[in-house]
Amino acid sequence: MENAVLITIGDEILSGNTVDTNSNFIATELKNIGIKVSQIFTISDEIDVIKNTLKSAFEIGDLVITTGGLGPTRDDKTKKALAEFFDDEIALDEVTFEHLKSYMEKRGRIEILERNREQAFVPTKSTVFQNHFGTAPCMMMQNGNKLSFSLPGVPYEVKPLIKDQIVPYLKEKFNLNYISTRIVSVVGIPESILADRIEEWELALPENMALSYLPVGTRVKLRLTATGENEQFLQIQLENQIQKLFPIIGENIIATSEDKIEKILAEILNEKEMTISTAESCTGGELAKLLTSNSGSSKYFIGGIVAYATEKKVDILNVSEGTIERFTVVSEEVAREMAEGCQNLFKTDISLSTTGVAGPGKGEDGKDVGTVYYTIRVNNKSETFKLYLPHLDRPDFVSFVSQKIIQDLV
Ligand code: ATP
Ligand code: MG
Repeated sequence: MENAVLITIGDEILSGNTVDTNSNFIATELKNIGIKVSQIFTISDEIDVIKNTLKSAFEIGDLVITTGGLGPTRDDKTKKALAEFFDDEIALDEVTFEHLKSYMEKRGRIEILERNREQAFVPTKSTVFQNHFGTAPCMMMQNGNKLSFSLPGVPYEVKPLIKDQIVPYLKEKFNLNYISTRIVSVVGIPESILADRIEEWELALPENMALSYLPVGTRVKLRLTATGENEQFLQIQLENQIQKLFPIIGENIIATSEDKIEKILAEILNEKEMTISTAESCTGGELAKLLTSNSGSSKYFIGGIVAYATEKKVDILNVSEGTIERFTVVSEEVAREMAEGCQNLFKTDISLSTTGVAGPGKGEDGKDVGTVYYTIRVNNKSETFKLYLPHLDRPDFVSFVSQKIIQDLV
């Protein structure tokens, strides 16, 4: 069991209405047990297309996972395609029907419609994995020594099916190992010197672990990978090895989690026991969103204001009207006063502010599209920066500016 092929079924994905997040999730989970996704197909809800794609997929991979098209509506065709492809019949599966009835009763739906009953019909050769978060069951089919799983499309149904049922099943059946990874971000030591300093530690790593160096800007990321049977054990093992790094390069370690910059910031703020708040204009709350994207963010994130209208910058954040008149609202001075007002309001160690023109169209005061000022205020010291990003459209502008501010903090 080495290669997998994913098939995403649904007209709504092809039309651009839905972004395919299922493939991303499934590929990541499979990677954790050493299965590589070698191709992803996105196809329409048409029986012939589904059958043809299943054929191609089985030629490429040992494992085929489809999502979508299993619902009770007429546009969902996956089950029929599956039965035809495997030369099978669809019949009522009593166990699945009982599961479905109790699932629906628990949700107060006593009356089972014919349409619902149909969901308990599956190809007779299939092995069913019951869906605890929806009405469409997951069906496994065997094709020689290859396997396929067909799942519904709804992401919150896909996730537990994959994580709690399919991955453990594959791992057990094919005797696969878990692969766990941790990243240690190191600043202030060039890669070659770092390698020298941690050489002894590296040589003493247990046999199931591997280390790689990934230079990223001014940081070096150490990626530590462990392979083994028990995921929890691997995590403990990884943590132990990371702890051993601290006496050697502790001062240069800024984070020991994943890549995401907001997560790194969370670790730093927690470590230093600092609090943070935001006063946003052109980023419209994106900064606050990033800062609250990790669990436990309530420890450091105290609050944020989106003061979009100029008078709200005055009323809420205490920006002086005189400053706005003299320098315009998109200015270094206003950014600084917003951050000061924000810090006073929320009583935090750090406050962040943004004021700019995300466009399209010039700002009220004639500032060019793509101009933004932001202030990072730490304790009593403010630093204000200007960016000019005329090439970015509105969503990219907002996301770039917000990420950049967090990067500056880290
Ligand atoms: P249902 O029982 O809800 O009809 P289904 O198996 O028929 O489930 P679909 O109808 O294909 O699944 O999709 C249901 C919803 O799940 C879609 O409207 C879409 O929002 C979401 N969805 C489907 N496929 C994906 C995907 N690959 N990535 C993210 N979301 C998806
Ligand atoms: Mg559907």
